[in-house]
Amino acid sequence: MTAEDTNIKIAVRVRPFNGREMERSAQRIITMDGPTTIITNPKDGAERKFTFDYRYEFASDPLYLSHLSLNLIQQRVFQDLGEAVVENAWKGINASILAYGQTGSGKSYSMFGYGLNKGLIPMIADRMFTSMAEAKDPGVELQLTFSMLEIYNEKVYDLLNPAAGDALRVRNTTNTAFYVEGLKPFPVTTYQEIESLVDRGTRNRTVASTKMNASSSRSHTILILQFIQISKVGRTEKRSIINLVDLAGSERVNSAGTEGERLKEGVNINSSLSVLGQVIAALVQKQNGKKGLVVPYRDSTLTKLLANALGGNSRTIMIAALSPADINYEETLGTLRFVDRAKQIKTAATVNEN
Ligand code: ADP
Ligand code: MG
Repeated sequence: MTAEDTNIKIAVRVRPFNGREMERSAQRIITMDGPTTIITNPKDGAERKFTFDYRYEFASDPLYLSHLSLNLIQQRVFQDLGEAVVENAWKGINASILAYGQTGSGKSYSMFGYGLNKGLIPMIADRMFTSMAEAKDPGVELQLTFSMLEIYNEKVYDLLNPAAGDALRVRNTTNTAFYVEGLKPFPVTTYQEIESLVDRGTRNRTVASTKMNASSSRSHTILILQFIQISKVGRTEKRSIINLVDLAGSERVNSAGTEGERLKEGVNINSSLSVLGQVIAALVQKQNGKKGLVVPYRDSTLTKLLANALGGNSRTIMIAALSPADINYEETLGTLRFVDRAKQIKTAATVNEN
């Protein structure tokens, strides 16, 4: 089995040093050597090595920080990870792209982008519409809908219909199929419509987190594109779902110095991320032929919502967002370990097969 035919792929991405890290003359602890990502323990210089499917690094070249070169890397991320998602949607294959990492590591930059440096979400939406415009089969009607949700403390909020106010309930049709009751996906026909819905969702997210006295890094954001191809003859449908997920910051809560809402948030985030890890591990084992395995979708709201585009005929991409700096060593190592766990299982199965 090669990376090409596994349904989960992992990308690591190192952001440039930020102002705070530069002020503190932080040292670089992440390096990349061909397919290998190396993290150095700043205390004793010990190295750990990991291998992932895709790697994105920032060059030490100061020119790297120019708008053009930043943009080129965003483009490359889209070509590697986003293009296939759109192509698969046409074939009825679902996909989830998830950005994982501590707050400030570059999750939103990869998913949404920053200013003109568009990230995966706008580029995938744009490509979706371009490909729909190119499709010329008059016998097939194309529909695209868009939703934007937030999971905070295990509760689901529709970011496009905040008037609904209260959390929406997640119900199940079977043990592995869930839906959000009362969620109203928006039909979209142009890229600009998605852009303004994303803006609206982002604004509502900020308002909601202020109201709940939370930082927006403490919730998971999920954008859902649903693509439906309806054949006019026979009215047969091909459906596919693309989940684009900006996860809550993965930093561990220090229960000693944290209490009340902050502690509850942290515990909920840690547990939903750990369920996500268990779900992915179970899926990889299942894919490798292990029978009778129960995938624990039910154990968190996040995995319930993603169930339709994680298992079965779907593709999952995890982007591990990393700070390059020594001061973030523990969290960065935690992120590498998290995404490595799924990959470890994949590699073990590769060995068994040969
Ligand atoms: P997160 O969503 O993980 O909290 P952000 O995506 O908001 O982190 O990134 C933190 C800061 O770093 C932002 O100012 C962002 O523009 C910048 N940044 C993140 N990743 C990159 C990158 N790959 N290249 C350039 N700047 C980046
Ligand atoms: Mg963010």
